[in-house]
Order: sequence, then C-alpha cells, then structure tokens
Amino acid sequence: MKIAINGAGIAGPTLAYWLHSFGHEPVLYEQAPALRSGGYVIDFWGIGYDIAEKMGLIGQIRELGYQVGEVRFVNSAGRSNGGLSADVFSRMTNDRYTSLKRSDLAAAIYGAIDGKVETVFGDSIAAIEEHRDGVHLSFDHAAPRDFDLVVGADGLHSRVRDRVFGPQEQFETFLGYKVAAFEASGYPVRDERVYVSHTLPGRQTARFTMRDDRTLFLFVYRDENRDLPTSDDERKAVLERIFGKDGWELPQILAAMRDTDGIYFDRVSQIRMDNWTKGRTALIGDAAACASLLAGEGCGLAMTEAYVLAGKLASTGGNHTIAYAAYHDELRDFLQAKQDSARKFASAFAPQTASGIWFRNLVTRLMRFQPIADWFVGRDLRDDIDLPDYEKMVLGKASDVVL
Ligand SMILES: Cc1cc2nc3c(=O)[nH]c(=O)nc-3n(C[C@H](O)[C@H](O)[C@H](O)COP(=O)(O)OP(=O)(O)OC[C@H]3O[C@@H](n4cnc5c(N)ncnc54)[C@H](O)[C@@H]3O)c2cc1C
Repeated sequence: MKIAINGAGIAGPTLAYWLHSFGHEPVLYEQAPALRSGGYVIDFWGIGYDIAEKMGLIGQIRELGYQVGEVRFVNSAGRSNGGLSADVFSRMTNDRYTSLKRSDLAAAIYGAIDGKVETVFGDSIAAIEEHRDGVHLSFDHAAPRDFDLVVGADGLHSRVRDRVFGPQEQFETFLGYKVAAFEASGYPVRDERVYVSHTLPGRQTARFTMRDDRTLFLFVYRDENRDLPTSDDERKAVLERIFGKDGWELPQILAAMRDTDGIYFDRVSQIRMDNWTKGRTALIGDAAACASLLAGEGCGLAMTEAYVLAGKLASTGGNHTIAYAAYHDELRDFLQAKQDSARKFASAFAPQTASGIWFRNLVTRLMRFQPIADWFVGRDLRDDIDLPDYEKMVLGKASDVVL
C-alpha cells in the first residue's frame, strides 16, 4: 500500500521504517525544511529502547547518549538540598537507559530509512479527501496525490488530527504548566553527567551539560493561561518576567538566553481521544496520545504506536479496517495508564508550594537507600505490556529482543 505520513519526528520515521520492512510504500511529509535540530534532552528506555534495538539503532543511540550519574536539586545559593543518584535508572532497566537529544534520536531513526523512503521536506498535508478506494491529499506546496492510507505523526498540534477528527481543544487536556528549552554554547559552569535543577513554588529551571561545550536549559512553570508566545522575542520576555528575579544561576542563564535563537516553548498537555483512527486515517505519537514530558517516555511510546500500527497492517494482510481497530485495542489501556501516571507526577515534578518542594526533596534524600529508590522509581519505569513480535509473524525473522 502507498501510505502518506505527515511528520518526520520520532513516530513518523519509525512507522516508515516498519512499513517499508513489511513491503509497503510510505512517503513522509515534514513541514520543516530539514530534520529539526536542537530542542531538549529526553530519557530513553523501556519498550521504545527495545524497538530501537530491533531496528539496529542501539549502538548509535548509546554513542549519542549521556549516562546521567546524578539528579541534583539546588537552592538559591546553588547548594544541594535534594536529589538522587541516577544509578537507580540503570539498575531498574538492566542498563537499558540513556539520555540524548530528541533531535539526535530523530536523526538516528531517520538514518535507518534515508535513501529508502521518499521524504518531502518543507511541505505538509493540507487537506484529506477520502473516497471508496483511498485518500486524495492536497499539500501546502506539492501537487495533489492519491494514497491508500494517511497517518498523522505530526505531534501535539497535529494538523491531520485537526482536519479529520476536529479542533485540538476537543482532545487537549492542558495540565496547567508551560515548558521552554534552549541550548547555548560556552556556558561557564559545567557539571558533567549531572542534571542540576532549581525549584521554587510553581517554577523550575534545570541545566544539563552536553558535549562540544554546549549546555541545555529547561524551564517549567505553572500557568493557567493557554496562550503561547509566538516569536523568540516574546518567549524571551515571558521567561524574563517569570524567572528574572530568581537566584541560583538565573541571571547568567537568562543572559545566555538573550543571545539564543530557536527557543522551544509549549503547553504541557496531553491528548486524549476515544479513537485514533477514522476511515483511512490513523494517528500515532503525540498526535494520538501525547502523555506530556511528565511521562518521561513520549518518544518510546511514539515508537511503540508506530511499531504496532505497522505490525497490525502487515499481520492483517493490509486490511486497514481490522488493523486500525486492533492497533487501538492493543494500546488503549497501556497508554491511558501512562497518561494517568504522568498526571499524578506533575505535583512532584514542579511542586506549587514551599512545603511541597521540601517534601519532594526529603523523598529524594530517602532514595539514597537503594530499596526505597528501587521501589519509587521501579514502579514508574515498568512497561506493563507484551507486544507481538511482528517481524517474526510477518517476515519469519526471529529476533533476540523480546518485547
Ligand atoms: C521538554 C520535554 C521533555 C521531554 N522529555 C522526554 C523524555 O525524557 N523521554 C521521552 O521519551 N519523551 C520526552 N518528551 C516527549 C517526546 O519528545 C515526545 O513525546 C515525542 O517527541 C513525540 O514524538 P512524535 O513523533 O509524535 O512528535 P514530534 O517529535 O513532535 O514530531 C512531530 C514532527 O511533525 C512535524 N510537523 C508538525 N506539524 C506538521 C505539519 N503540519 N506538517 C508536516 N509536519 C509537521 C514536526 O516538525 C516534527 O518533526 C519530552 C517532551 C518535552 C517537550
């Protein structure tokens, strides 16, 4: 089948990889002129890690990744007041855990299909007209084209979802936080392999030292207003207003921000839908079931949705009606549980009161005792799902990786 995929982030190229492996003809459309670079650092583990291993990407991902040694909370004077050793993450995942730039993960996945799958950069699906035998797609720039199926892998603000299922407001649960991130070169303070974070009631700033003299900065703050700034100047003004009077390294961090372009800024939201498919259209990744950064696993979940959708299309002989229903049935409960636990984590991630911060810091100090750390972290790191081995089912190819 010819399958158009909107969005070449994490989910889109993963889907293209598996569809291509199973003998279909995917075409990727990405609105950016090239793969997006920069952004933020993600933790990568669990079922997404297993799927990446099946795709032969783990060597590259480990090379691009950082093995974080410590999460350190600091007060306004920069003195440690909580945190934990990150060994617990490796221990609870049998060392199948790394942290890397989201854009590096996206590039590694794309590398597996580069030259094999047609990709159109700088364009986007603009309209979808479904008929008995397929879909007729119009684009922002290219001439219209016909496909058998269409998939929206175009993230939290998915245009495919908007066109086929309805406006974002119907499906978005705004969690009341905003997030911003940027990268800078030459920041003078470096703590290798340490994620350093400063929390005040309702807001948090974090810094992570990267290779090549680069540093990543992340801001999360409480805000009930859904509106987002639309230019870098507006984003900088908002961050100055919210964080401008804070201690720790905020004066230096905001100074580094002033010389930076391309600040990531968004609402912390989830997408909750009754169904991720309609007719010949399917959604995957954040477009379908965004769990938000609070899940710490959105990339892995996006890859899982891509793998399962491709597997269902292949194992049902291309009957999209049966495959789409099976895709939804396989993942609905699992993803809903991930979303529920991410929502519960919000108060611990960015507490809204001084006593909330004190309590969070106390809990992390207790996590110096290994059994307590294993209990707290282990329950959130588990992926309670067994996925079929579609490679074996469809291609008769046995894999060492058990999902
Ligand atoms: C600050 C932060 C921290 C996070 N931390 C983690 C973490 O620790 N671990 C983790 O696993 N996940 C984390 N996540 C979540 C993770 O980044 C997402 O869940 C994941 O990127 C979703 O992948 P996706 O492919 O669905 O969407 P995206 O990665 O957003 O990709 C969507 C792609 O579609 C393109 N696009 C958008 N609109 C259009 C259009 N109209 N036409 C064509 N193309 C379009 C975009 O340019 C982009 O390339 C974090 C997120 C944030 C914001």
